[in-house]
Amino acid sequence: MSIELDILVIGAHPDDAEIGCGGTIAHYAKKGKKVGVLDLSNGEPTPFGTVEKRMAEAKAASEILGLAVRITLDMTNRYIENTIENRKKVAEVLRKYKPKILITHPPNDWHPDHVACHQIVNAAKFQAKLTKTESKHLEHYPKYVFYFDHSHLKDKNRKLDFLTDISDSLEEKISALKAYKTQFVDNKKHLRIFDYIKERAGYLGYQVGVKYAEGFINSEHLMVDFENLKI
Ligand SMILES: [Zn+2]
Repeated sequence: MSIELDILVIGAHPDDAEIGCGGTIAHYAKKGKKVGVLDLSNGEPTPFGTVEKRMAEAKAASEILGLAVRITLDMTNRYIENTIENRKKVAEVLRKYKPKILITHPPNDWHPDHVACHQIVNAAKFQAKLTKTESKHLEHYPKYVFYFDHSHLKDKNRKLDFLTDISDSLEEKISALKAYKTQFVDNKKHLRIFDYIKERAGYLGYQVGVKYAEGFINSEHLMVDFENLKI
């Protein structure tokens, strides 16, 4: 039997999960939660690095974040589509690892693969709860789906619904991103990502009285128990 996950973060490409919510991943992994990442593609084809290099970089990033599992599907970079076949592939992962919380791309992103990933994940969430399918795993329905605050989210009216405290894990987030050497270190035009990540985390953290925070979008109502608020 496979491990059951508390949180599964799903990105279109290797490094999306880290950019979107690497601090939250590392924070909850440190607390003993089982956190996994699913990449829909291995990033190929891309102008930077090779498949082998990128897989090694993703492995190094996974170790820094403390992931329980990282899965890579075979969708093609730049051509990811919300098809029945792709929904089924993601639904199989949901059935196998039974995550309670899903985190993925928001709907309004300029990269078509990210938008397709958003659609596939929501459709797969539905698909995974169905009975009488050809799947060898039992049905599963993740209770929550949240969308991360990705640097590709080019929305001037960007609105977040809640924040998580990543004061104890910003360092791991940045180290995990630096593990993608071919994308962010060798590629000088992407070097500013590290400043952006730190400044945005500081800006969001300041608003809630912590050093660093990450933001999320939630499309459904979220129940708040006053007894769990830090007051
Ligand atoms: Zn991406």
